[in-house]
Amino acid sequence: MIIIIKSTATDTQVQEVIDKVVAMGFGVNVSQGIERLVIGVLGVRDDKDILAAQLGGFGCVERVIPISRAYKLVSREGVSEASVVRVRGIEIGTAGAIHVIAGPCTVEGREMLLKTAAWVKHCGAMVLRGGAYKPSTSPYSFQGMGRDGLEILAEARAHTGLAIATEVMDPRDVELVMRYADILQIGARNMQNFNLLKEIASVRKPVILKRGLAATVEEWLLAAEYVLAGGNHEVILCERGIRTFETATRNTLDLNAVPLGKSLTHLPIIVDPSHGTGKWDLVTSMALAAIAAGADGLMIEVHPKPADALKDGFQSLSFSNFEKLMTQARSVAQAVGRAIASNESLDVA
Ligand code: PEP
Ligand code: MN
Repeated sequence: MIIIIKSTATDTQVQEVIDKVVAMGFGVNVSQGIERLVIGVLGVRDDKDILAAQLGGFGCVERVIPISRAYKLVSREGVSEASVVRVRGIEIGTAGAIHVIAGPCTVEGREMLLKTAAWVKHCGAMVLRGGAYKPSTSPYSFQGMGRDGLEILAEARAHTGLAIATEVMDPRDVELVMRYADILQIGARNMQNFNLLKEIASVRKPVILKRGLAATVEEWLLAAEYVLAGGNHEVILCERGIRTFETATRNTLDLNAVPLGKSLTHLPIIVDPSHGTGKWDLVTSMALAAIAAGADGLMIEVHPKPADALKDGFQSLSFSNFEKLMTQARSVAQAVGRAIASNESLDVA
């Protein structure tokens, strides 16, 4: 359940409510919205209804909203405004703005990454992506450059001002990856790695949480709930396709999840049509569809020479195809009353 506190409440009154909830054996999560203080009541107990009734007796309580859904903090119920995730002056989730995250699947070396960073910035991207720790289906495929890859990403940020998003796969690596990354990515294969989720919940760094390969929307939102419940509210959800009976594409990009997700959660939702299709020639169409569906951003794999890519070359866009995607994205965004967020004011170190 969620307790909405009146805007006139004093700190002492709020503390009395918190003390009451805790005394009844529940946990609390206090969240200061723009207009209202909201207290999430955590825990499953039979006497929740009794607590709800008793809270009505507190003068500072505006409303008590019972939440039937399994996820609470990520739920739209009780949180009317959409959440905005802020990083390096970028505001992902701002109404009407589409943020583009682009870069290679994997950091393969310094030259290719710096070249790609400069190009995606030129085309209008806000965030540079690139894996240094790669979740590979086969143990014999390239596993990523590790710390050296992180160093190269940081160098690219210094040159371009682009924020850096990179995957972390192991709770033991979180501290290291955090030192370099602006946004931590949790990959599809780790969406339900609960120890990893708890670890990133305890840090102060935005997170991109990709939907699991076979995860329902509810399971995905519950994974996000782990992160918020642990204290990190800076979560961006990423739809990246799910596994279905269809084998003609790598995954089935579930664009239903965008408007559906937006009705269920206040968190920003971005779309990754690269992994969602697995085919470079389908990526632009599905990126445009994602914009029309209301996505807050796109994640696109771009490589200087897709045919030479160590990973995901089939789905990576060449520089010229990425440029075309961005041009079309601007038109479609405009047609649906939105805009690609401008990267002109990014700070270069
Ligand atoms: C990636 O972004 O390169 C990646 C491995 O994505 P996913 O976890 O969605 O498969
Ligand atoms: Mn990839």
